[in-house]
Amino acid sequence: MMNSSSSKRIHFLSEQLANQIAAGEVVERPASVLKELLENALDAGATQVDVEVEKGGMVSMVVRDNGHGIHADDMALAISRHATSKIDSLADLEALFSLGFRGEALASIGSVSRMKLSSRTMESEHAWSIEAQGRGSVAQEFPATHPIGSSIEVRELFFNTPARRKFLRSEKTEFNHLEDVFKRAALSRPQVGFTLTHNQRQVHRYRARCAEEQIQRVTDVCGKAFAVELEAVDESLDEVSLRGWVSASREGRSSTDLQYFFLNGRMVRDKLIQHAIRQAYETMLPAGRHAAYVLYMELTASEVDVNVHPTKHEVRFQQSRKIHDFIVVALRRHLPVQVEQDSQALASEGQQVAELGGATYSLRKPVFASEHGQARYAAHVPNYAPPQPSQFTDGNRSSADEQRILTIIGGRFVLLQSNEHVRVLDSFYADQLLVKHELSALDATSSISSPLIFPVQIDLSTSQLALLESLHDVFARLGIIWEQVDEQRVRINAAPQILQQLDLQAWLQDILNRFVSDSATSKALITLMATAAMGKRRYLLNQTELGIVLRQLKEVVYGKDEHKALWLTLDSAALTRLMNLSP
Ligand code: ADP
Ligand code: MG
Repeated sequence: MMNSSSSKRIHFLSEQLANQIAAGEVVERPASVLKELLENALDAGATQVDVEVEKGGMVSMVVRDNGHGIHADDMALAISRHATSKIDSLADLEALFSLGFRGEALASIGSVSRMKLSSRTMESEHAWSIEAQGRGSVAQEFPATHPIGSSIEVRELFFNTPARRKFLRSEKTEFNHLEDVFKRAALSRPQVGFTLTHNQRQVHRYRARCAEEQIQRVTDVCGKAFAVELEAVDESLDEVSLRGWVSASREGRSSTDLQYFFLNGRMVRDKLIQHAIRQAYETMLPAGRHAAYVLYMELTASEVDVNVHPTKHEVRFQQSRKIHDFIVVALRRHLPVQVEQDSQALASEGQQVAELGGATYSLRKPVFASEHGQARYAAHVPNYAPPQPSQFTDGNRSSADEQRILTIIGGRFVLLQSNEHVRVLDSFYADQLLVKHELSALDATSSISSPLIFPVQIDLSTSQLALLESLHDVFARLGIIWEQVDEQRVRINAAPQILQQLDLQAWLQDILNRFVSDSATSKALITLMATAAMGKRRYLLNQTELGIVLRQLKEVVYGKDEHKALWLTLDSAALTRLMNLSP
């Protein structure tokens, strides 16, 4: 018998208790068991994985795979703690490609359930089984029948830990969690076939897909609705690549249920990644709506630490800023301009805006017909009557200090509130002005350019190329660094920040098309470059970026004549017309 003094002496935990404590970290509910078992099956190189569960996995769960199996002599080790075939040293941990690596999943699961492992390798004449019944000690393996591969049966989860059992929810809830885990695994490995059977009814059957058919797996799992407005993403930068699909729907979803991000084949839910994706979508989705995506990022294993969190959803990047910006820029290249979002923003802020005009209006939601991808920045505001000069007062009167961005109309006109005025900024002209001032400044001093996250490759005709070559020095002085790729292509590697906001390809082609003689003065060239910048945005700026543009505008042109041309101040009648308000 233990007395109170001996209980304070130091002693080793029994193996069973140690396993159960470890189980507390990884085995929270049936879904967490399934996650571990699926990872093991995939790590074993299975091409077919079948899952059968009873009563949301609380009664039983069987995962069957056709992977490489476990050697007869290793059966007992497989279900012991800290036994793994996947890493030998810390160096392996750093170069980790397999999903599991702690060597404690099976031991943990076996300590809180009645578990049976059956397995056969290619070399073995027959299969072996071994059982764990919630006890610490491991039983002897015995001969069994099983094809090459492994099956793990987990029955009566938490039978010996009633406190944990109490936290289980309804069969339906537990099954939903299981299904989630199952879908993630299925998305992570399209080349593997999967089935899920619940209470003897097959719920999902996903055929193995080759690389070209990967999209089929995505729609098998995410449903047809996701397939409609999908944009394929395929971008890379140095050692990082990002592939997959994003939904270009401007309506977004009410929940975050279709957000899948895989890092080196492992599903992650990482704050940095989520932040980057939200930023890419920022101006596109109405408040409270969520993006939908299935994305796969691959990166050198040493660039990322996945060993941060026991359930391994969070990761740590060596170069987090670079990864973050890469994701933002890569996704924005595939997302449409958010015309519809603007109308929604109008709807929510319309009340406020309308009150400025001294009356209350009800908003009729404008219908936009914008074909994204094409004519990306074409302003398309229906019933938009070009404002008559008489309707506007001089925009220079109110201070630029207290302006608030209300909304962006048609991807071009920014509606700002300052004091008692609502003013409209033509952001295309704003770009033109900023480009002009920045380039003039660069021309006068030395250039500050930064490397492009994505160097831009541009197709040019022979004459355009000759023209560009003749301008080499001028471009270099302005910080635009390019190199020739082949006879018809150049690549821009670096440019001043202001130009990086532009669609450089369209911009450069525009310049070369307008440019007739190579003897133009640099002043004329800068004017031409500024004119060519009109409306050539790479993506629509979000609110933060617009704020920066406004500040730059103020610094650069405030008080000068050219500033006036930027602004229109609306009276309520003009406002009504512009916003398509109806009384
Ligand atoms: P880990 O996956 O972290 O190595 P586990 O406890 O999940 O630890 O598994 C222990 C070991 O058992 C694995 O390293 C692997 O060698 C073996 N194993 C488990 N499941 C399977 C399986 N389905 N197929 C082949 N080997 C397996
Ligand atoms: Mg494992």
